[in-house]
Amino acid sequence: MSEPLKDRDLAKLHPAFRLKVERLLETLQRAGVPFKLDEGFRSRERQGWLYASGRTRPGNILTQKDGAPGVWQKTHEVASERGKPRRSRHQSGLAADVYPLKSDGRVWIPAASHEAWVLLATAARSLGLRAGRDWGDSPHVEYQGALPKKEKG
Ligand SMILES: [Zn+2]
Repeated sequence: MSEPLKDRDLAKLHPAFRLKVERLLETLQRAGVPFKLDEGFRSRERQGWLYASGRTRPGNILTQKDGAPGVWQKTHEVASERGKPRRSRHQSGLAADVYPLKSDGRVWIPAASHEAWVLLATAARSLGLRAGRDWGDSPHVEYQGALPKKEKG
C-alpha cells in the first residue's frame, strides 16, 4: 500500500478546533516564529498506514493508534494503551501537526529540545489546547475539553 497523502486543509478540522489552530498560527507568526499546518484531518486509511510502520512494514513505531473504532483490549502489547481509543484525534479533525518555517518558506524539523517547540507548546496551552510536547510528540496539538454544542439552523 502506498502512503495516503497528508491532509493540510484547515477547513477539514472541526470548526471549534480550527479557530484555535488559526489563532495559534497567528500568535506564532507575531512572535516571529511562523509555523505551518503539516497535517490535520487524517483518514482511517492513513492512520492504519502509519500504524503499520515498525510492525508490518519496516520503519519506526509511529503511533499506538491503528485507526479502528472502539478501544484496545486488555491484551494490547502496550499496557498504557489498554482500554484507550484506537482512533487518533486527527481522525475527528481535533488534532494538528505544525512545524516551524525557515526563512525560505520550507518546513523545518528542529531537535526536540529546540526553543521553537517550547514556544509552540506554551502558545498552544494558553489557547486551552493540549501540547503533544508533554508526551514527546512536539509538533502535535489537540483540542481538549467539551466541544461547543452544534448550533441549529
Ligand atoms: Zn499529531
